[in-house]
Amino acid sequence: MINIILLGPPGAGKGTQAKLLEEKLGLKQLSSGDMLRAAVSRGTAVGQKAKSYMDAGKLVPNQVVVDVVFESIDALSSSNGIILDGFPRTVEQAEALDKKLAEKNARIDGVIVIKVRDEKLVERIAGRYTCAKCGEGYHDSFKKPTTADGSCDKCGSQDFKRRDDDRPEKVKERLNAYHKQTVPLIDYYEKRGKVAVIDGELSIEDVSHKMDEVLASFEGAESSVTGG
Ligand code: AMP
Repeated sequence: MINIILLGPPGAGKGTQAKLLEEKLGLKQLSSGDMLRAAVSRGTAVGQKAKSYMDAGKLVPNQVVVDVVFESIDALSSSNGIILDGFPRTVEQAEALDKKLAEKNARIDGVIVIKVRDEKLVERIAGRYTCAKCGEGYHDSFKKPTTADGSCDKCGSQDFKRRDDDRPEKVKERLNAYHKQTVPLIDYYEKRGKVAVIDGELSIEDVSHKMDEVLASFEGAESSVTGG
């Protein structure tokens, strides 16, 4: 059992690496962005509260996100641990998370910071898209489907989508929020001796190898959120 946080700017590859870790280690990815997008598309009360912030590339208020993420943590039945992707994003969220996990006799075992320079992020985000059916992620330059007809490698669907907030003007706002509100979190976890930094400008495979090394270094300090 190991509980980790992937921290990094939008487009750093958190979601891609989280999915790889899910497959390899049986960890459960909890992506706050995915949860909020699902709430918006279902038109729930949470979705209605979150939508305008997300459309503007700004952070959704802490309490709204905390409630949604904690609901998913409580709903976990069993897993080898969790990978938090996109949460926490503020010190206030991190403090709430520490409290929540402590109630379950669990804790964050390590925080992996994926570093990518801003100029690279804009290029990466502009080219990315996902399969509308299964959510597999792709990129115009770095990760096209390998099928002859361009259909999804995972599920064969021909239906793909791009995020509205991946447009360049929104990306600028999201990077602003990252630098102002999320970067201070690195210090929060460094003070607790939990941070490992990975160069996110390497290839997907190389970042994944580095992840494996870092995870091995976190081992031994492990805990569980499901009490199992
Ligand atoms: P992401 O998919 O992680 O890039 O998140 C997409 C959008 O959802 C962000 O730009 C925010 O508006 C919102 N969001 C996701 N996670 C959080 C969070 N932990 N705190 C505040 N807002 C969030």
